[in-house]
Amino acid sequence: MIKVISFDMDGTLLDGVIDDYFWFEEIPKLYSERHKVSILKAKQITRKAYDDLGQDNLLWYDPQYWFDKFEITAKPVEILKDLKHHIFVYPEVINMLKELKKDYKLVILTRSTKDFVEVKTEAEGLKNYFDHIFSAISDFKEIDKHHGIYQMMLDILKVKPNEIIHIGNELKNDYETPMSLGIKSFIVNRNGKIRGQFVVKNFNEFLERVKLL
Ligand SMILES: [Mg+2]
Repeated sequence: MIKVISFDMDGTLLDGVIDDYFWFEEIPKLYSERHKVSILKAKQITRKAYDDLGQDNLLWYDPQYWFDKFEITAKPVEILKDLKHHIFVYPEVINMLKELKKDYKLVILTRSTKDFVEVKTEAEGLKNYFDHIFSAISDFKEIDKHHGIYQMMLDILKVKPNEIIHIGNELKNDYETPMSLGIKSFIVNRNGKIRGQFVVKNFNEFLERVKLL
């Protein structure tokens, strides 16, 4: 008996281009304004700082850490709100959420951090459909969605693996890992590159598959 459906966010419910734009265009722009250097120079300096810290470090993902380091006084979430036109919710998503919400509790499990989550889930009123939004980094201090993250989600939601479905766009993080815990999982793959029984091409197809369970 399925009670909960869990969704990955970036690349699943919406296109995540805002992330790259924020790190590699907007922060350099703010840096260049703050320190009176060219955009090109600002891009080199910020890129080197990102690389020096490295993406294995949780701080890498924290906009406030970089704003402090680069002496940028604006609030990250306000800057992100100005970039919301870079967020694109896939066309059939809202309709699918409306349908599924009638019968299931809906949650998001994402690697996006809380500032990004806040802005992204405001797009098209996305956040109104979800009972719980888990950020691996902000809530669990983990970069990847490994077994422990899924287990913590099950514990918090008080459901067993066979009472939840997960869907996302990454084979390892959204399919292999949850399946190994006994969570029925699907991959949404819009370009047809991933094939298998567990793959759907969009959320209209996912809706049909859920009805058959
Ligand atoms: Mg994803």
